[in-house]
Amino acid sequence: MPLTDKEKRKEYERNYRLRNLEKVRAWGRNWLRKHRADPMFREKEKATKKKYRENFWIRYHSNPEFREKVRIKNNRKHLRYITETDYFHNKYAQWREEALTILGGRCQYCGFDNPMALQIHHVNGDGAKERRESSKYKQYRLMLQRIREGSENYKIACANCNIIMARTGTLVPFIRG
Ligand SMILES: [Zn+2]
Repeated sequence: MPLTDKEKRKEYERNYRLRNLEKVRAWGRNWLRKHRADPMFREKEKATKKKYRENFWIRYHSNPEFREKVRIKNNRKHLRYITETDYFHNKYAQWREEALTILGGRCQYCGFDNPMALQIHHVNGDGAKERRESSKYKQYRLMLQRIREGSENYKIACANCNIIMARTGTLVPFIRG
């Protein structure tokens, strides 16, 4: 349906996008896949981006209205960042508490029980590998999931026992008695 009114047309297109979100996204993905393979397209894309960056700073320094707009947008981004970080800090604290409770709440080697200095020890010694393979919070989430499922790979060690095991490469920090 041909809409000559610019605003109406915009609205119609917006509604169409909202109604067929998946379809429109698939079109976009296909278009990009087709064009990304073409080296000419990549060159052109690079040039466009460069031009945009140059224009951005010219506009930023010469146009106070634009500068204000950018400032507000960045501020909003910053706020969102702070809220997200807060959210994950809280989540992490919850996950940690649950993991410590399931694993017994005290160091499995010496019995120390102040939660502030308790850490989760990887019995198989694959803590570094686990860290490399996922982001910080994803790793914690997966770890808790495995602990809930009753994985044998995790034990609580206090900071002292954990560092001694790491330094000496043994699985028992010291022999008591
Ligand atoms: Zn200990």
